[in-house]
Amino acid sequence: MDFSNAIRGIVRAWRAQGRRLTAPRRAVLEALARAGCRADARTVYRLARRMYPKTGLVTVYRTLELLVREGWAERWEEGGTARYELAQPHHHHLVCLGCGSVARWERCPIPVRRGTTVRGGFLVTGHRMELLGYCKACRQVRG
Ligand SMILES: [Zn+2]
Ligand SMILES: [Zn+2]
Ligand SMILES: [Zn+2]
Repeated sequence: MDFSNAIRGIVRAWRAQGRRLTAPRRAVLEALARAGCRADARTVYRLARRMYPKTGLVTVYRTLELLVREGWAERWEEGGTARYELAQPHHHHLVCLGCGSVARWERCPIPVRRGTTVRGGFLVTGHRMELLGYCKACRQVRG
């Protein structure tokens, strides 16, 4: 998955706002992109430190929250753990009830575009959807 375009967009927007792109922040962005779907902050932290060893956990949390606030990333709460991922490109998730793995699903079956108004006044700004089930590995174990 190539997220470099998404990162470039964020960097450009931040520069336009006069926000400094520090090395730790850059590392968090790259880490979030590499972490894939629904990474928790610890995973992002671990990956970020590989790119920039001095990255602090507080910076990781702050940067993730900033990205969520500005709409660049999405956050899920699962069992008391916050999970994050870059919001683009649009996709859905296949969530395994056996091992908890989360896989991307690129097909979008929902025909309602953002910006559409439904039910006489509800403005749609986006949607979330996940398919629940069992991944191939878990199905083989279960027989
Ligand atoms: Zn995802
Ligand atoms: Zn599984
Ligand atoms: Zn969709």
